[in-house]
Parts: sequence; structure tokens; C-alpha cells
Amino acid sequence: MAEIQLKSVSKRWGSFVGVDNFDLTIADREFLVLLGPSGCGKTTTMRMIAGLEDVTDGDILVDGRRINDLDPKDRDVAMVFQSYALYPNMNVYDNIRFPLKVRKVPEAEHDARVRRASEMVELDEFLHRKPSELSGGQRQRVALARAIVREPNVFLMDEPLSNLDAKLRVSTRAQIKNLSHELKVTTIYVTHDQIEAMTLADRVVVMSKGVVQQVGTPTEIYDNPANTFVAGFIGSPAMNLVEGTVSGGVFEAKRMRIAGVGAPDGPVVLGFRAEDAAIAEEGEITAPVYSLELLGDATMVTMRVGGALISVKADKDYRIEIGETVSARVPAGICHLFDPDGGRRL
Ligand code: ATP
Repeated sequence: MAEIQLKSVSKRWGSFVGVDNFDLTIADREFLVLLGPSGCGKTTTMRMIAGLEDVTDGDILVDGRRINDLDPKDRDVAMVFQSYALYPNMNVYDNIRFPLKVRKVPEAEHDARVRRASEMVELDEFLHRKPSELSGGQRQRVALARAIVREPNVFLMDEPLSNLDAKLRVSTRAQIKNLSHELKVTTIYVTHDQIEAMTLADRVVVMSKGVVQQVGTPTEIYDNPANTFVAGFIGSPAMNLVEGTVSGGVFEAKRMRIAGVGAPDGPVVLGFRAEDAAIAEEGEITAPVYSLELLGDATMVTMRVGGALISVKADKDYRIEIGETVSARVPAGICHLFDPDGGRRL
């Protein structure tokens, strides 16, 4: 069992606020992803849970027990970092076994536990190799096995895939998802990659500048972003965002006119996703083509609309020249509306 509660947790260094008033309960066995751009406070939040960073304000509780002052080694958490930090002189077996020795787990248990952990990450054939004789992906799996072998109540993973190439990242991501399902351990996973977050998480916490922007399931965050920051961060491509004005239910911006918009008169930020819009003979947007990207299963058409670039997903066979004029259908029903002042969802 490990339910983790963060109660108004803040981290400050002098006047700089790294994490501001973080409030969240992470359920037992939940896979929670902390997502945000570099410097938003993800790692600091994780390090406070691990006990590697002091909490300036607030409380961290595990199963109702306050752990703020508990030594890292007495917290039942295992961390996996982006740098694998393996011992170069030890073979894979001894690297995986190391935490058991440190924790003085009875020797009789070591072999079975090391073998079980190495089988889970499919490293059983590499046990006598040194880290230098492994690929990057295999080394990261040793680091995972070294965390698994401890059988902790909580896994903390800090960008564990970021040193792997694109293909390996996808396969290791699937492996982590599968492991988390099998191990059923509360997991907090840090990443700046929104695809990683969306594919792995039960819930995602989107952070910016130390402040939680939204907490929700991947679907909630994708379908109902709480503000323009989340809208502009989630999705590939992220949501199109355009500043304009609503008058009598009609949104107008340069080269755009959308009727039936449910917002009061005045300035607004309108958003829609590339995949919800469609190329049309005569649509709500008409603008020159800025770029065309072939994605395999679709073609991404990007238009220049005033100062903004707007993407619309078209059929995979759709072709048009850069600079030609194209029109796209963007009905009010697919649009999201945000307050231009602060970016909150309306
Ligand atoms: P990244 O994805 O780059 O790792 P992050 O979201 O994990 O970013 P953190 O490492 O948590 O970000 O850092 C949050 C902020 O706190 C950053 O602006 C960072 O410069 C600052 N920071 C981190 N450690 C310290 C420190 N020891 N002293 C002062 N500021 C710090």
C-alpha cells in the first residue's frame, strides 16, 4: 500500500519559487506522470518525495504518515534516473543485486529476486556482462531491474527514456507500461514528452513555472484543457490557438470567421485541434499554405493566418503547393474558448 499525499508543498531557494503550493493525492498503485517544460519543477517535486530535497512548506504523507523529515533510505521508494548510474566494474547481476546488499536483505533471497527482476526486463541472458558491454536500452533496463528488485512501495522515475533513441524509447515505454501493470506499485514518472505522458499515465499533472496547471486523465487533459498553456502543450501538433473577437456569437480574426460561438462579446482566444478540422471548398478559414508535411497516415497542412500558423489534418493523399490558398472547415462545435487575460478556459 502506498497512497501519497502532497499538502500545499512548496520549494523555495531564497526568493525563487521552484514548486508552488502543490496539492495532490496519488492513489495506491496509480501511475502518475508529472509533465511540463524544462525548469517547471517536476524533478524538484519528485526529489522532495524521495527525500533528496527539503520541503520548504507543506507536508508529504505516505499512507497518512508525514514523511517530511524521514531519511531517504527509510522511505520505501526506488528511483530510476535518466542517467543509469550503474557500477561499471560490476556485472549486471551484481548491479541488480546491489540494493539488496545495501538493505541487508537475507542473502538466501538474493538470487531468486535478482533473477525475477532481470526476467521482468528481459535481461536474464546478460547477467554476467559489464555495463560497458550493453546497449543504452539494456543499461536502462538494468536500472529498472535494480529498482524492481527492491520491491518498493513507490517507484519514482525521472525521464528514464530520454537517453534512448526514438525506436528504443517506444519499446521501453511499452515495457514500463507493462511492468507497472504487473507490479501494481504507485509510480510517479517525470517527463517533458507529452506523448510519453499520454501513453503511460493513469493521470497527468501538467506543470508550468512551479505551478500545477491541470490534473486529469490523458483524455480529460486532451479533450478539456484547463487553459491555453495546457492546450498549447498537449497534442501533436498542439492545439491551434488564435486571438480574435466575438460579436453576437461570431468569432472573427484575420482570415477567419466562425459563427455560433458560445462566448460573450469581446476578445477571446479560440482553439481547435488539427484533427478536428478539415480541408473544404469553402470553410471558416481561408489562408495561404505555409507548409505540407506527409505523416504516412495523413497530411498536415499548415496555413499562415495573420501572425499565427494553423495546422489542419488532411487525407494522406491530399496535395497542394506551398503559397496556394486553401480553406478549412472549423465549425464552432470543435472550438475551445479561452480568456485572453490569463488563458483560463471559458
Ligand atoms: P528539467 O526537465 O529540465 O529537468 P524540471 O521541471 O525537472 O526541469 P526542476 O529541476 O525541478 O525542473 O527545477 C525547477 C526550477 O528550480 C528550475 O528553474 C531550476 O533552475 C530551479 N532549481 C533547481 N534546483 C535548484 C537549486 N538547488 N537552487 C536554485 N534553484 C534550483
